[in-house]
Amino acid sequence: MSQNTCTRCNRALKDPQSVKRGMGPICYRELGGGIFEADMEVDEKEWARRDELLRHGGEVDFGVNWQYPIEGNLLPTLYTLRVSVRFKDENFEAYGIVTGPGKNEEVIFTSTPDIKAAYRAAIDAGPRCSAEAFQAWKQGAREARKMMQKSGINRATCVKRRDGTSSPGRDYT
Ligand SMILES: [Zn+2]
Repeated sequence: MSQNTCTRCNRALKDPQSVKRGMGPICYRELGGGIFEADMEVDEKEWARRDELLRHGGEVDFGVNWQYPIEGNLLPTLYTLRVSVRFKDENFEAYGIVTGPGKNEEVIFTSTPDIKAAYRAAIDAGPRCSAEAFQAWKQGAREARKMMQKSGINRATCVKRRDGTSSPGRDYT
């Protein structure tokens, strides 16, 4: 992927690495990005060991508590994503399991004969999905606010009673 604005905060990106990642360094770090980065910087012997492990049915875990964008979800932490790499149908697969209320499904990020590309996709998937979940949540909150305003409910206004107490409620002005 490659984009000129940050997936999480929509700010413009200039740094080539940020553009490639689709996220600025601060947002990336805040979402837990970078914690598996060292996994890419190993020697060929270690890659061969991983290749062997995966081909024999092993799996490599890249975190279990990433957030996942679900349309209309007003709580960004409600759906979680677990990212792993496995070997399936002669390819290395970066995939995730999404769990949450009414959901337990598998998503495939990439399926490739290149083990390094599969690792890269798995490492990138967590922070990227968390950023998209954050955006989906912000969008949902905006729409909920709009609906509240349309129906005459305004959080900021209170109904003043005669005895001087007040309570949140409809704005009749
Ligand atoms: Zn950002």
